[in-house]
Amino acid sequence: MADDCYSCRQESDLAAAAPSERVHLTEYWRAAHAFNSSLPGWLILLPRRHVTSIAELTPAEAAELGPLVHQLSETLHAVLRCTKPYVVQFAEAEGFAHVHFHLVPRMPDLPSDHRGPRVFHYLTRPESEWLTLDERNDIAVALSAHLRSG
Ligand SMILES: [Zn+2]
Repeated sequence: MADDCYSCRQESDLAAAAPSERVHLTEYWRAAHAFNSSLPGWLILLPRRHVTSIAELTPAEAAELGPLVHQLSETLHAVLRCTKPYVVQFAEAEGFAHVHFHLVPRMPDLPSDHRGPRVFHYLTRPESEWLTLDERNDIAVALSAHLRSG
């Protein structure tokens, strides 16, 4: 646990957290809806302890990762009808060094100038354009239901 880490603070209070902060929980990983996204269904997949490089994952944590990325991707396809999910990991922003994978639903109508790395357009909009907590929670509940049924 790192005190200055947003991800660890969320993890430490999961019982009280909104559905958007716990789309999916496994022994070693948590999926959440990005709080600062203006694109519905932008997921963050992160280890449940503080690590700042994928190289620090234990074999058990690493073993869960591949199947989870696949399961979450299948869910984004099934629930949101995306063309494919993008998967990105940088962990460079101040206070966000905790390893986290972005799983971004690339929708069929995504404008060509926001494809590929430029999809981060949707994570850098002013707060007034972010999805509301209610919107994030609704998506989280739908994704969770699909994950449980799978
Ligand atoms: Zn952390």
